[in-house]
Amino acid sequence: MKPWFDLPSPLPFASSISIIGGGIMGLLMALKLQNQGFQVTIFEKNSALMGEGSGNPAAILDPYISLQQTSPEQIYFTTAYQKALHFYRSLGGECFTAKALKKFAKSKAEIIRYQKIAGNYSSDFAIFQNDHILFKQSGILQPKDVGRKLSKDLTIKTNMDVRCFSYDAKKSIWQLYDSKENSIHSSNALILANSFQAHKFLQTKFLPVKPVKGQISFIYPDRAGINNSAILCKGGYVTPLIDNAEINQKCHIIGASFERDIPLNQRHHISKAADIENLKKLEDILNLDSNISPDALLGSRASMRAMSPDHLPIIGAVPDKEAYQHYYQKLYHGPDHAIFKSAPYHKSLYICAGLGARGMLSAPFAADILTWIIGRNLPKGDSDTLYNDKILHALHPARFHIRRLIRGASLK
Ligand SMILES: Cc1cc2nc3c(=O)[nH]c(=O)nc-3n(C[C@H](O)[C@H](O)[C@H](O)COP(=O)(O)OP(=O)(O)OC[C@H]3O[C@@H](n4cnc5c(N)ncnc54)[C@H](O)[C@@H]3O)c2cc1C
Repeated sequence: MKPWFDLPSPLPFASSISIIGGGIMGLLMALKLQNQGFQVTIFEKNSALMGEGSGNPAAILDPYISLQQTSPEQIYFTTAYQKALHFYRSLGGECFTAKALKKFAKSKAEIIRYQKIAGNYSSDFAIFQNDHILFKQSGILQPKDVGRKLSKDLTIKTNMDVRCFSYDAKKSIWQLYDSKENSIHSSNALILANSFQAHKFLQTKFLPVKPVKGQISFIYPDRAGINNSAILCKGGYVTPLIDNAEINQKCHIIGASFERDIPLNQRHHISKAADIENLKKLEDILNLDSNISPDALLGSRASMRAMSPDHLPIIGAVPDKEAYQHYYQKLYHGPDHAIFKSAPYHKSLYICAGLGARGMLSAPFAADILTWIIGRNLPKGDSDTLYNDKILHALHPARFHIRRLIRGASLK
C-alpha cells in the first residue's frame, strides 16, 4: 500500500474535458475518452495538428529491450509495442507499413546480451541471428496520416495557445485563458498533452520534463549504398525506401540526433552537425570504413522530444506539490513510520507528457492508461492486470516528489 500513489476518484460519466496539445498524445486521449462518452475538446496552439514532435514524415516502431524482463520499463514498453502494432495496423490506409526491424549489437558483449534477451521471448516476437535481433512484425508509421485518421470525428480548436488555467471549485470547472487573459473555454476536467511545455503552468511547474532536440535526415534513394528491405538499427537507424510526403519524393530516413539545451525558438532549425551525426550513425550501421558524402542528403527535419529524468513518460493525475510536502515529509523515516494520508491531487487535472524517443510507439498504451485512470473503464479486450500498481507507480507524476522526500529532501 502506497497511499502517496493512490488513484484519484473516477471522473463522472459524460463530463466535459479539455485537452491541451494536438500531437499524437492529445489526439489519442481525445479519441479514447470520446469513445467512452466524455465530451472532449482539443486546443492546439499551431494552425495544424501533429506539427511538432509528432510531425515527422516517418516513425519507426523500435522495441525497447533489456535483460530486466520484469522491470516496469520493460513491461511498459513491451506492452506498448504490442498495442502499437495492433492499433496502428487497425487504422488502415497508409498509416502503418509492415517492415521487419533488425537491431544490431555494437560489441561482442552486446551480442551475448542480445542472444540472452532474444531467448526470453517467443520467436513470433524476437529471433537472434548472428549479430542482431530480428523483430519480424515491426513497421513504419506515417504520423501525418495517423493524425488525419484520428482527428476525423474530434472537436479541435487550432491557433489556441493556452497560457494558464484556474479551477472554480464552486462550479467544478477548469477555466482556460489565452495570452491576453481572455477566457477561452471551460470544462469539468483538463488534460495536459503538450509535451515539453507541460511544466509551463502554475500547477505543473515542478515537472521535470526537458526538451531534447532531434533531427532526422533524408537520403537520396541511390547515393549511400543502402539496400535494405528491413529497418536497420544500431544506435541510429535507417529505413528502407519510403514515400516521404513532406518532400514528395522517395527516400531513406536516417536518425536521429540528440541535442540538449537548445533554445525553443531554434527547435525547427536544421543543423549541419546533426546531419553529420546521422550520417556517422549510418556508416556504423552499414559497417563502412569511408565517409558517406553529404551530397547523399536530400533534406532534414528537426523538432523537440520531451524527456523525463528516468526516460519514462509522466502519466496520471497532477499532484498538489504543497500538500505532498505536508503529507509525506516524514517519509524519510520509512513507509511504515506513520499512517499516511491518501494522495492529494489538483481536482480533475491530468497529464500525459514526457514520451521521449519512443513516443509514437508508446502513445496508444499511454492513452489507454490515462483513460483508465480517468474513467476507470477498461479498454475493450484489456484485463486490469495491464493497469497494475507496478506500471502506474513507475509512471506516476508524483514519483519525483516521493523520491526526494524519501531521501529527506524538501520539495520547496
Ligand atoms: C527527431 C525525432 C525522431 C523521432 N522518431 C521516433 C520514432 O521513430 N518512433 C517513435 O515512436 N517516436 C519517435 N519520436 C518521438 C515521438 O515523435 C514523440 O515522443 C511524440 O511525437 C510526442 O507526442 P506528443 O503528443 O506528446 O507531443 P507533440 O507531438 O510535440 O505535441 C504537443 C502539442 O502540444 C502543442 N502545445 C504546446 N503547448 C501548448 C499550449 N500552451 N496550448 C496549446 N497547444 C500547445 C504543441 O504545439 C504540439 O502540437 C521522435 C522524435 C523526434 C524529435
